[in-house]
This record gives sequence, C-alpha cells and structure tokens, in this order.
Amino acid sequence: MLNLTATDVRMNAQATNKDEALSLLAKILSEDGLATADYLAGLQAREAQTSTYLGQGIAIPHGTPESRSFVQQTGVRLVHFADGVVWNDDGERAYLLVGICAKSDEHLSILRQLTKALGDDIEERIKHATSADELLAILDGTGNCSLSIHENLIKTDINAKDADELYGVAVSLLKQQGKLVIATGIRPSFTKLSEAIYCATLEHDELVAEPAFALAVAKGVVKLGHDDMRALAVIASNQTVNQDKLLALYDVLLSAEFGGKLQHASLPELVTFLGADKAEHWQSASVVLPNAHGLHARPATALSELAKGATGELKVAVDNGAYVSAKSLTKLLSLGATRGQSLTFIAEPNTDAVEYLPKLIQAVQDGLSEEVTPISNSQADSQESGKENHEPAVLDLTDNTAIIKGERTHATSASAGLAHGEAFVVRQVRFDYPVQGGDKASEWASLQQAIGSVKDELKVIVQTAKKASIAQIFTAHVALLDDEEVTHGAKDGIDDGLSAAAAWHAHIEQLAKVQASVANHLLAERAADLRDVGQKVLAKLTGQAVATEPAEPYVLIKEDLLPSDVARLDPARVAGILTAVGGASSHSAIVARALGIPAIVGAGKGVLDINDGEQVLIDGGQGWFVVAPTDEMVAVAKAEQASWAERKRLASEAALNPAITQDGHQVEIAVNLGNVHDTKMAVESGAEAVGLLRTELVFMSHQSVPDIDTQVADYTQVFDALDGRPLVVRTLDVGGDKPLPYLPMPFEDNPFLGVRGIRLTLRQPALLENQLIALIKASKGRDLRIMFPMVGRLEEWHDAKAILDKVLTDYPHDKLQVGMMIEVPSAAVMADIFASEVDFFSIGTNDLTQYALAIDRGHATLSKDADGLHPSVLRLIQNTVANAHAHGKWVGVCGELAGDERAIPILVGLGVDELSMSAGNIALAKAVVRELNFADCQYLAKKALSCRTAGEVRALVMGV
Ligand code: PEP
Ligand code: MG
Repeated sequence: MLNLTATDVRMNAQATNKDEALSLLAKILSEDGLATADYLAGLQAREAQTSTYLGQGIAIPHGTPESRSFVQQTGVRLVHFADGVVWNDDGERAYLLVGICAKSDEHLSILRQLTKALGDDIEERIKHATSADELLAILDGTGNCSLSIHENLIKTDINAKDADELYGVAVSLLKQQGKLVIATGIRPSFTKLSEAIYCATLEHDELVAEPAFALAVAKGVVKLGHDDMRALAVIASNQTVNQDKLLALYDVLLSAEFGGKLQHASLPELVTFLGADKAEHWQSASVVLPNAHGLHARPATALSELAKGATGELKVAVDNGAYVSAKSLTKLLSLGATRGQSLTFIAEPNTDAVEYLPKLIQAVQDGLSEEVTPISNSQADSQESGKENHEPAVLDLTDNTAIIKGERTHATSASAGLAHGEAFVVRQVRFDYPVQGGDKASEWASLQQAIGSVKDELKVIVQTAKKASIAQIFTAHVALLDDEEVTHGAKDGIDDGLSAAAAWHAHIEQLAKVQASVANHLLAERAADLRDVGQKVLAKLTGQAVATEPAEPYVLIKEDLLPSDVARLDPARVAGILTAVGGASSHSAIVARALGIPAIVGAGKGVLDINDGEQVLIDGGQGWFVVAPTDEMVAVAKAEQASWAERKRLASEAALNPAITQDGHQVEIAVNLGNVHDTKMAVESGAEAVGLLRTELVFMSHQSVPDIDTQVADYTQVFDALDGRPLVVRTLDVGGDKPLPYLPMPFEDNPFLGVRGIRLTLRQPALLENQLIALIKASKGRDLRIMFPMVGRLEEWHDAKAILDKVLTDYPHDKLQVGMMIEVPSAAVMADIFASEVDFFSIGTNDLTQYALAIDRGHATLSKDADGLHPSVLRLIQNTVANAHAHGKWVGVCGELAGDERAIPILVGLGVDELSMSAGNIALAKAVVRELNFADCQYLAKKALSCRTAGEVRALVMGV
C-alpha cells in the first residue's frame, strides 16, 4: 500500500528519547540520500509545532515547509523501536516512525493511508513485529483486512412493507457504496439477535468487494412470518474481514442498549453509538425561486457568476431533483426551475463555498437582477442541513378514497369487462445514490458498464418480443443508448465531481425536459422513453431492483396510462388496468377501450399503495375493484366473467345485424376512426358507417402537411373499404391537446379555449380548402358527410360554409351532406338556429361535457367527474335532438358516451339517430339496442332529464 520494501525499513532501533530518535531518522535519511543532515532541524521544528504522533504506536515525523530545500529526493523510511519512544506530553509511545522526506505535500497521501490503520487495533502487532516484512504486512493489511461501518450504510425510518423490503434496502446501500459487486438477489436466512432485531450474513469472496455492515431500520415494525422485525443488520463478509472488529460489532448489536437506541435515537445518535465513520456533510440551504419566468438565462447568469466566486464546489437542485454545478450556466438552465420551486444549494465541506450559501440565498431572494414579487417568507427561509425542509406547501388535489381490503371501491368505469389477477404496480422509483463521485475514471467506467448491461438486456427483449410494436419500442431504446449525445453527456457531470448516478440522472432529466417541451405531443412523449431508459441505467448503477412483470396475466396499476403505453401493453398478459388518475374520456380510458382490456380509471393515489402480488378483482363495466377479494367474490366474478364473455361472443356473432329495438326503432351504429387503415376491420366488426373520421390524426401520420393528392389517397382507402356505407369526416380539429408538429402554434394560456378546431382552419383557409377538395375528389360522388369541429358561433359556421361553397363551385357533389359538431355548449343551446342551416349534427360529448361542466377532460383528478350523463349535458343533447328533428335533420353522438352501455338507453330515448364509437364497442352496443324497447327508453330519458346529479342518472340506468 505504501509502496515500500524491506530496504526502506530499519528494525531494532534504540533511542532513549524523541530527540535521539529524530537524530537517528535524520541520519538514515541522509545516508540514503534523501535529505542533507540539515533536515533534522526541520524535523525538530515540526515536532515543536505539534507532535506528529498518529496513534496505534505510529508517528510520522516530517520537516517543515521551510526545510524542504534540504530534501534531495522524496521518500519514506520506517524505523522500528521495539521498546518505543515517548512521543508526546501524554506519554504515548511511538514504536514505528514513518519518516517522510517530501518536496511538496506528498506526505498527505501517506498520512491518509496510514490513518486507515487507526481503525484497527494494530499497536500491539506493530510493537511486537520482528521483521521488516512483518511490519510492512501489518501496514499493507490495514486496507484489506477490514469491516466498514459507515454512516452511509445506515438507514432509518424506512417505509418498508415486509422483511424482504428491509433486506433490499440494506443490500442496495451496500451496492451503492461499492461493498457488493452486484445487488445479489440471493437472500440469506435471517437470524434473530434480540427482540425485533435480526441479522443476515452475506458471505462470498467474489460478490463482496469489501467487508461491510449495513443497517436498515423500519419506520414501525414489519412482519417476518409471525414475528416482528424492526431492524435488519446485513453483514457482507469475505475472507479479508477483520474478525476482531466483527466480534466487537456483534457485541454491540446484541447489547440491550442497541435495542433501546433503535427505538428512540436519531440517526446521528445511532451512528455515534455504533462507532460508525461519519459521512462528510455538505452544508445545504434552500430558497424558493421568486422569479416570474423561472430561472431563465438572465437570472441564471447572475447566479452562476456569483457561484463562480467560490473556489469550493457549489451545487444546486430543484425541489428534490438531481444536483448540478451552480457555476455552470447551461446546467442551471437545464434545471428548468419555475417560480415557486425550491432551490437547494450544497457547499463542499471545509472550503469557502460554505460562506457562499447565505450569499446565494440572498441573491435568489433579491431576484438575481430581476424585479420580483416575493413568495411567502416562510418558504424562502434558508435552512441548514439536517433541519426540517420547509418546501412550498402545494395543495394536495388528489383523491384519496380509502381502499378497504375485501370491499368494493368505486371509481370511473373506463373499459367494460371483469379481470382478476395479481397486482403489478408501476411506481415512480426513487433511486438512492451519493451525489458526490469518487474517482472520476471509475465513475465513468461504472456508467459505461451499466449502460452496456442495460443494452444487452434490451437486445434480448427485442429478440424475444412476440409483437413487432414491442420490438420497435425497445429497438428505439437500444438506439438511445447507442446515441453518444445520450451516453456521453453525463461525462461533464462526472468531471464536475458528481457520482455516475447523479451525473446520469441530471443529464437524462435535461434531455427529457427539452424533449417534453416539443409542441407535438407525440414527440414530447419520447421524453418518457428517455426517462424509461434512464431509470434502467440508474437501477443498474444503484443496484436497485426495477419491478418485473408477473408471469401470469396481471392487473396493471399505474398513475396514468399514456397513449405511448399502448404498444408496450400486451393484452395477453394485462388482464385489467387500474389507474390513479383520469376520467372516462381521458387518454387512459380511450387507450384501454381500444385494447379491449377491462379498466377503471381515476381511482385515486391510494391504488399505488396496493402491494405487488396482491390479488385484485376489477369490474370495468360497473366501475369497482376489490383488493384481496374473498374466494367467493372471485367465484361470482368468474361466473359473471364467463357470462360476459359469452355475451360478447353472442354479440360478435350478430355484429353484422342491424341495431333495432324490440319495438322496431333502428339506430345506426358507426365507428370512430383515427387512421384510414382500420376501416375494413371496423366494417367487419359491424360498423354501418364511419361516424367520425378524426382527420387531424390522419394528418399526424405524415411528416408535413399532406398535399391534396396524398390526402385523396388516404380518404380513398376509407371510401373503398366502406363499400358504399356513409362516411362522416370531420375537418381538421387541431389545437387544444392535439397540436400538429408542422403547424406551429403560438403559446396559449388556455389552448382548449384558444385557437382550436374551426377557429384554426378559418385562420388557415387554404388548409381547409385543400382538405375539402381532397375529400370531394376521393369520394367520387359516394356518400360523403362533412362536419366542422368546435363551432360555437353562427359566424364560424357561415365562414366555414362559405369556404366549402366556393370549393363546391369547382368540385360539385350531389350526395354531400354538411353538418357540424355539437361540442360547444353555445351551439347546443342555439341548436334551433343552427338546425335550420345544417344537414346534420354530431354531438361530441367529450368536449361538450368538458365545456358544460368546466372540467378539463384530461385533468388528472377532476376528469372522473366529467360525466357525460350529467343532467346538464343530457339537457343540451335533448335540446339539440329536438331542434334537429323539428327541422328534419338527423343527429349522431360521436363522443365516448355513445359506446357506454349505461348511456345507450338514454341516448336512444333522447332520439339520437346514430351512435359512433370505437370498433371494439360496436357488437355489444348493437346487442344492447336490440334488447331495448324504444318507448321505455323515452320514458327513461325523460326521467334522466329531471335528475339532479350524474350519480342519480347512473343509478337510474343501473335499474334498467
Ligand atoms: C368529442 O369532443 O366528443 C369528440 C368526439 O371529439 P374529440 O374527442 O376528437 O375532441
Ligand atoms: Mg371534440
């Protein structure tokens, strides 16, 4: 370790006092050509300042800086005094002198290595050493023969559910600190040490990089069989373990005081009690950012300039995110900090950076050279590390319906059907890793290694994927990890002193934020891919496990389901879906319906606390789920599932038959399409028409605005597949949550109330004109029905109609019907006026409900209350239908309500002529209509109109 050989050691030295010993050392150094005889004065002067006694019988005499001129060659000599020499006023004896002759501060590294010896009881061995080799072995062995007991291997207040989870925490601490080569999944047996205290020993020469002790303490107690477990000590050991230290550790763990400490002591007290090495603490201070436009270029420049004044390191993180250098402008910008977010600064210990903390806090509070309105003072108070963190209090807007095991919990029905299986909860994983890195080269190497092994795993998934769409997703993930911009970007962070994990996390977050800010939501969703890949690498680096899907069909539980999740979902394995947020017309619901997987959405954050592997039963049609259902519940549900499957089977068999009620009233059942290729499949599923072709989705499949010919080709596919059946086409409905990448829109505060639908195309008349031309050309005289989206005012209808009339003068069409969507409440209220001018209405209940109830249809927690069966919405539908019929015009419903089994009797009763829905709902919707009696439906609808709440309406239809 010291790179010394036996020739550097002098055994059997004699001295009666320190002066004699120093003279002897100076003589040896001079004889060996390391220093002139004058160096002795330097050694003496240094001792006069402070004793160089290190401990464990070792002293490290070295010259003062002034005496460095007498050094001829840097080197070290060891002199062994078997009888020892009194070295300081306390009477401590030095048996070994490590004499240092150094031109600069090389002695510091020797000192660092020797201080490790102090952790072990080597004084007796040093004293009794009889040979140079033995002496060197003792010193050399200090690094190898060890047992690390360190603060960063102790974790308290762990929210664990069971003993395995506590074990997992201890193992990941060991992995993070480099004590384990991999976070082994092998779980040794747990040995009880005392009441609720257990120990596990991981003994392995290859797996254990360095013997160490980790302690995981639960917040309360967790179960191990029938017994309680409060704390689990994991001892990672190999043949180099320091047995004496290990025995001493066991003594401490078995002591009665230890049990007491676990109950009452704070983490620092526990660390002291165990005699663990303490982590160097970076002092921290937090402040709330008051700048209206966040940490943009100007304030970020002011901040980095100020931070650069410190020679020590200063880092900053937003809220609880990753730390970046506060001196780097680009890193500060990458944080994307917004007003109200909390900035936490940390300063390198023992440097001037610590003094910069208050200066930085003050500068942020002063606005970083911008005028600011202060945010609450209590939030802006800086805090020292270790004190409570006063983050800005954010209102908790989530619904937290209590989930009682074995009982039904109700939420929003999103996709009908019953599902039963093990819960698989996809949670936001929090990775634990040190911010500060160790040796840069090894941090970089471990990052490369983690990336490499994630890539290897992904390649296996690609090769074994049964669905092309899944293979494509993971091929794209491999490509991300092949991209040097992604993989090499973290190098800066490592060079700045961050750990591989911290640097990687910061870099991926920065890339993801940039990606997420892209206007096109499809491209923006690629940010999720980056984060996905990023997490996999982080998991490798920290040794934390990422959950793997159960082998059996399972119930997928997630915060929300994104459209980009669609390709990842394998309906053969996902029996059901349960989400914390979302409503019936939210993306998650539409995705689930499209996949035909039973689903419940908007069930509240509590679902994320369901244990993995717990049995869950869901009824997507009725909107309830049960955690840990009884066998009887499952049996009943299975019987219902069988009859539901049978019902679906019978419905599919009759899918091509018309939907005529028992008393002879026919309703047209049509399909909603977002891509032209699905038309044939929809017709085969029983669609009698296309009731809504969402052309903005057709446009999105092109890289730029499709010209007339391209559009003609697209629409022709639909007409051909329809084989004479009617086609209702909606002109471009861009804006709101559906931006087109090649149609950049200025930022709007409220895009759903902004330039959306017809408001946009009226501002781009050529776009509308070309689309209308393409539609008429493609139809070749076939049954074409064109409608305009988001019409709210009569002027909009007139303006759109004028553009169409102009097109029709050049491209006449005999069979064309022209209508409008009813999705803005003003249009529904004014239906009598519009009805006299249109050929038909199609009611978009998704938007109509959103605007009538003023609930964002995609709102994470509110959208479950955006129920299209709310009496206010039903009254708008009733007014629309009544006025249309009074003018001899037909009305369709193309919102998600049209495919809702519970809503169908009411919509039919209100007189709706056409129901347009996802292809998957068609057969069942037809079967439902066939079971109805029109006169009963009219009565039901009347009653529904006089209900006071959506709940009352739903209760009404449950009784049908
Ligand atoms: C609606 O609003 O109900 C509708 C069908 O249109 P979209 O969902 O495409 O906005
Ligand atoms: Mg709409």
